Order: sequence, then structure tokens, then C-alpha cells
Amino acid sequence: MSRRSIILSLLVITVIITAAVTAYYMYRPNAARVDKFHQWMEDPASHSDWKLAAKSQCGAAPFLFPTDGLGGFLWGDPMGRGHIHQGIDIFAGTDAGVTPVIAAYPGYLTRLPDWKSAVIMRVPDDPLHPGQQIWLYYTHMADPNGNSFISSEFPAGTSEKLIEAGTFLGYQGNYSGDPNNPVGVHLHFSIVEDDGTGKFKNELDIDNTLDPSPYLGLPLNGYENHDQVPFCGTAVE
Ligand SMILES: [Zn+2]
Repeated sequence: MSRRSIILSLLVITVIITAAVTAYYMYRPNAARVDKFHQWMEDPASHSDWKLAAKSQCGAAPFLFPTDGLGGFLWGDPMGRGHIHQGIDIFAGTDAGVTPVIAAYPGYLTRLPDWKSAVIMRVPDDPLHPGQQIWLYYTHMADPNGNSFISSEFPAGTSEKLIEAGTFLGYQGNYSGDPNNPVGVHLHFSIVEDDGTGKFKNELDIDNTLDPSPYLGLPLNGYENHDQVPFCGTAVE
């Protein structure tokens, strides 16, 4: 092999590896929904038909919709770097600390002592799987520095406080844990399984969660219809 062909081969290999890595991280099957999400964030007013309303209930679905906004990232959506989304992200299209979040269902609210942006609610009897205990997790309710937007009714350390569906929990925020890289203003809402001993499992793993869409009466999850956003009983092309 000549020196020139070795250099050429190395160059080709480098280009192929770079392209493969880029494709792996950049390609998303939900790209069309992500595009709608960007349109919404730029100008929510011009896409008001995509907005789901807080406290609304879709047909016979058991849960109230927990906040206003677009269901931009669904349960099962790929989030990059191999992470699969384990809840639904609802983006108000407003500033942080403005758009209320309410309880989707009655339950017992807990906020661990070090939780700045999250609460979790124990639901002893899953309305879709009677006899099974589930947990409803609500997060990102703080500003980038961790100043909480959670209702003063639920200070850090709150444990097992019984609340009704529709109770005000706090406001959508953009807390990510890193003040220099806040998330877009939204609520992350997920349904976490019980570990069988009365504790919630690790909510970061999709295997420990349930698809919230049937509980909210939404027709889509992240594995279906990637060009659509969910809407009550139907989907918007
Ligand atoms: Zn999320």
C-alpha cells in the first residue's frame, strides 16, 4: 500500500465514523413532532389548536390534564444518547413561574426534603388497573437556580398530604439542576410504578413507568405517529 492510499483510507474511515456518530445522535424518528414543538415555542398563539387546557378531561379518561400547553415530548419518545422519555412534557409557551400546574387525580402528596422542583402523589388504586398502587410525578417547577415555584401549601418535607384533583401544585419552570443550562419551560408529568413495598421506583427509567396517554385520554405515545401532536381524543397532523 502506498503512503497516499493509506492516508486516503484513513480519511474515508474517519468520514464514515463521523457520519455514523452524527446520525446516531442527530436522527430522531419523532423529528416531525419536534419540528412542531419548535414552531409552538416560537409562536404559541398561532398554533392555539395544539394547546391542551389545564383541568380539562378527555372523554372518560380518569385524569385531568395537569397544565396548559403542547404535549411536545411523549412517553417513549427518543431524547438522544439512548435515553427514552418516561413521561409527557407539556410546554406552556410562557415564561417560567406563570402557568399553573394542578393535580391530575386525588392522592397523597409527598415532597422530599431536598426536592426543589418536584412533588409526587401516591394513588392507592390505579383507575385503569384497579388494586394496583401508582405514583404521579410532577417536575421542573423551579427556576434555573432552584428557586421553587411549588405551592407554599407543600413545603419541602411534606409527606402524604391528601389532596383533591385540580388542587394547585405550583407553576411550570425551567429547572434542570444546571443553572447554566435550563430546560425549556414545561411540566414533566409521569406515572411511576410502586416497588411492591409502598415506595416508588426510580422514575428515570422508562421500565419503571406507565404510559400516561390513556390516563389523559390522548391517542398518542412516543412510539406512534411521529408527525402528530396529541390532542383530546384525536391527533393534530
Ligand atoms: Zn420530560
